[in-house]
Amino acid sequence: MTEYSPSNASCPVAAKANAAVKGIHPYQPGKPIDELQREYHLTRISKLASNENPLGSSHKATQAIQNALKDMGRYPDGHGFYLKRGLSEHLDQPEECIATGNGSNELLELVARVFAGPGDEVIYSQHAFAVYAISTQAVGADAVEVPARNWGHDLNAMAAAVTDQTRLIYLANPNNPTGTRFGKREWETFMSKIPPEVVVVLDEAYFEYAQSRDDAFNGLHYLGRYPNLIVTRTFSKAYGLAALRVGYAVAHPEIIHLINRLREPFNVNHMAQVAATAALKDPVFVQKTIETNHQGMQQLESFLKEHQLSFIPSSANFICVDFGEKAQAMNEALLKEGVIVRPLAQTGELAPFLRVSIGTFSENRHFMQALMKILRNPA
Ligand SMILES: *Cc1c(COP(=O)(O)O)cnc(C)c1O
Repeated sequence: MTEYSPSNASCPVAAKANAAVKGIHPYQPGKPIDELQREYHLTRISKLASNENPLGSSHKATQAIQNALKDMGRYPDGHGFYLKRGLSEHLDQPEECIATGNGSNELLELVARVFAGPGDEVIYSQHAFAVYAISTQAVGADAVEVPARNWGHDLNAMAAAVTDQTRLIYLANPNNPTGTRFGKREWETFMSKIPPEVVVVLDEAYFEYAQSRDDAFNGLHYLGRYPNLIVTRTFSKAYGLAALRVGYAVAHPEIIHLINRLREPFNVNHMAQVAATAALKDPVFVQKTIETNHQGMQQLESFLKEHQLSFIPSSANFICVDFGEKAQAMNEALLKEGVIVRPLAQTGELAPFLRVSIGTFSENRHFMQALMKILRNPA
């Protein structure tokens, strides 16, 4: 160690940081597999913590990256020509209505930066995706968190929370972390009540998993009628490209134009662009993903019912299981068995829950066997 190390010095400028930034609660990611391996020297680890695709990704995507390695020294196409063309065909939407992002996370943040600032209100639901609160706080806007109903969005209450100061509303359907969903009728009633000057972001990160459910709807079908609507989706979940960070927003071209002014010129890297473009051409992989998820969800639900563990019914690729006061201890015990799940909160209404991503059949079985072992031999 050198005598001078930045970590030994004090840092008076930190206290002078933007007040909004100092107020942010940092996003807590799922524990990486390597980290658990280092800590416990386990041989078998099942990561069911970050709603990733247990099948990996499409071979078409990995092949596309291999073919693109020779281009690594060059900047990517800042307009994402091929990806946008692919998305345009896939979604049946004009290219000028599409913006791509470094994950849909980036787009969720950019939307806040485009539309909200100090003195403005941003509405989102209690127990919704953590990024909405972070994005709101980062731009210094006032967060209006509407109490959840049955762990999901209370759309009537959210519409009633709109004031003259409201600039933006974030909705996740299905929602993360709770897995809840609202249907077409509720959605249409909600949209009919929202003033046209208020931006509605419909985050459909888990769209593919819920398509076949009762009363399901596709947010894209409402863009023509609502120029204040932004639909976001991602390649991180059903397309299995979480590491690459690619997502997109679909909206009125003027909104897309505003987002494009603010985004970094090369926000989506070249590997991500080629892989996502190729992944769109592999609907069989996505279909297999949806079927695997459906079967895994049934496998877990019947196990939980059999063992009288309660859970929040989910329309996504994860499920929240209620362990009451034992949730933190259960999380630790599962880690020792090589199973990484996601605790949702230290305190409050979500503290009793662990969120478990649906894995492959054998990963799900690993979780269930670990759970049985822990329940039989409580520490
Ligand atoms: C995972 C997730 C996203 C986006 O993830 P990216 O990897 O940034 O595309 C967005 N919204 C919700 C609700 C999510 O769970």
